[in-house]
Amino acid sequence: MKIIIAGGGPVGLFLGICLSQKGIECTILEKRAAPVTDSRSLGIHPVSLGLFKQLGIVDDFLEAGVQIKKGIAHDGKKKMGEVDFSQLKPPFNFVLACPQFETERILEKQFTKLNPNGLIREAEVVAVTQNEKNIMVRFNKNGIEESITSNFVIGCDGKNSFVRQETGIFFGGKRYPDTYIMGDFEENTSFGKDAVVFLPKQGMVECFPLPNGMRRWVVKTNQFIEHVTQEKLSGLVLKRLGYDLSSINHSMLSSFGVQHFMAEYFVKNKIILVGDAAHVVSPIGGQGMNLGWLGAWKLAEILKVCLENPSREKELLHAYESKHKKVVKKAAKRAEWNMKMGRKHKIPFAKKALIHVLLHTPLSSIAARKFTMHGLG
Ligand SMILES: Cc1cc2nc3c(=O)[nH]c(=O)nc-3n(C[C@H](O)[C@H](O)[C@H](O)COP(=O)(O)OP(=O)(O)OC[C@H]3O[C@@H](n4cnc5c(N)ncnc54)[C@H](O)[C@@H]3O)c2cc1C
Repeated sequence: MKIIIAGGGPVGLFLGICLSQKGIECTILEKRAAPVTDSRSLGIHPVSLGLFKQLGIVDDFLEAGVQIKKGIAHDGKKKMGEVDFSQLKPPFNFVLACPQFETERILEKQFTKLNPNGLIREAEVVAVTQNEKNIMVRFNKNGIEESITSNFVIGCDGKNSFVRQETGIFFGGKRYPDTYIMGDFEENTSFGKDAVVFLPKQGMVECFPLPNGMRRWVVKTNQFIEHVTQEKLSGLVLKRLGYDLSSINHSMLSSFGVQHFMAEYFVKNKIILVGDAAHVVSPIGGQGMNLGWLGAWKLAEILKVCLENPSREKELLHAYESKHKKVVKKAAKRAEWNMKMGRKHKIPFAKKALIHVLLHTPLSSIAARKFTMHGLG
């Protein structure tokens, strides 16, 4: 069996490691010349750390990230309560905040260790054609078109997936009205390694610790802001919370909207979609990349079984698709709930009461499990 993975982002690289460890030959075609250089996706949940342990890369991640053991809810004036992740089953009873450039660096290092010539960079997939037996992938490298034939093509090429579009798979879903701006600033709070969700009446603000004395600030906005400035972000944080970020060094500023989309098929004959190519959930709660890794892990296991039992291939891949779709739907609901809690409510008192019950009763252990993707793996 030979597999082509289109896209060497966090999910494509992870899938490449899983397949290589199982002795399945694979090549990753990635259009970027190098891994990302900014912090982007941060949150790595316990379930993924468990998978990293099995792949022998968890220590690299633990060294690169910060362990968040507590999530604090704050109304802008005082603490409302907290969710303590350390009550979860050890050893991974925390969420790891690890910048995406570190994640991609670790995954690429491990993949190329297992498969030294397996990653082809500056290779943009431009055509995918399948016949009865195999698939031909054409890609552009340095202006020259080349082609490879394989048994499967796995699209890990992100939410605007070329592979998905080329295969004609419908990507259905919705955009939410919620919009946010974010930035990474030097630490100026006393929250240490805790994550904080502020819920003042003017709108939600979240902040998470990052390695190297930095903190990520995420601020809900009333409309999409294309060009984010330090002045804009710090102005909103100052008005809502009284924290002054206006003269604090920062390394990144950006804005994002939120959406939930899912491909009609994750598997179409010999073409498979994984990660954001197959499903996009709201990033509030930080699940998208982790969800991609969960799918990639299960898919690699299934492909190994298919290799040994080719006659069961259709049945096994079909079962993989329907099982993983259920997981994605569950995760999307959780993400939507997280996002709704950050919206302005018509009855603010009811929201406060709900949060109080969640954080001050035995329900808090359920909240800790839900926020850390327990029950999805
Ligand atoms: C603001 C924000 C914060 C987030 N935070 C988190 C978080 O904390 N935790 C979490 O789990 N998720 C988070 N997410 C979601 C996460 O970013 C995505 O789920 C994740 O990046 C998906 O990984 P992927 O590898 O599937 O796709 P991508 O990261 O999009 O990677 C796709 C790769 O394919 C390559 N590619 C594309 N087209 C081609 C082509 N034709 N040929 C070759 N290569 C191609 C691209 O260059 C890229 O490297 C966040 C998202 C946002 C917007």
